Amino acid sequence: MRLLLVEDEKRLSDALAAILRKKGYQVDTALDGETGLDMAAEGTYDLLILDRMLPKRDGLSILREVRAMGYGMPVLFLTAKDTTDDRVEGLDAGADDYLVKPFDTPELLARIRSLLRRAEKEMVGDKLTGAGVVLDPLKGEATYNGKTIKLTVKEAVLLELLMKNIGQVLSKERILERIWGYSADVDTANVDLYIHYLRKKLTNDHIKTVRGVGYYFDGKVE
Ligand code: CA
Repeated sequence: MRLLLVEDEKRLSDALAAILRKKGYQVDTALDGETGLDMAAEGTYDLLILDRMLPKRDGLSILREVRAMGYGMPVLFLTAKDTTDDRVEGLDAGADDYLVKPFDTPELLARIRSLLRRAEKEMVGDKLTGAGVVLDPLKGEATYNGKTIKLTVKEAVLLELLMKNIGQVLSKERILERIWGYSADVDTANVDLYIHYLRKKLTNDHIKTVRGVGYYFDGKVE
């Protein structure tokens, strides 16, 4: 299991990393928010531990970015003070759990174990199938006709959205909002572009266009 720890207090970071490594986890550390986000954006971590207050970029904004990229790995949030606002903000932004500093090591380890267990369970049921396509959104891979198709994060999230709504037409606006978010600096031309990429990769007409409206995943394609 690969964990990313983003914590700017060097001594705490070193101590936690040492404890976690002793427990058999592979741990990378980042001491500021920007580095943390760059590393998290690679999508190769099974769990993120994010401190709330960090130089350059705070934990909350890392969490939002990571979720906006479509990553669903569990995130454990570390907050310095136990204020309701901090907790609510963290959970709202997509954190799965939080710990208030100072915390006991056994409690941290228990939370990590529980989050990883939960994530593993969700992963099993997470594959989607339709018209011969099997999508593993977490791996960013689809298989079709016995071939493995590597997808980018956005492509995987887009295909997941379409496959979760098989046969149902989704408007371009809805796709845009779901994949890129409200405040994104993109328009529906991006949706068209990513549909184009997906069609090229799937090599079959799984994704149908409804002119002037949007797209849907056709579950009846041979
Ligand atoms: Ca801090």
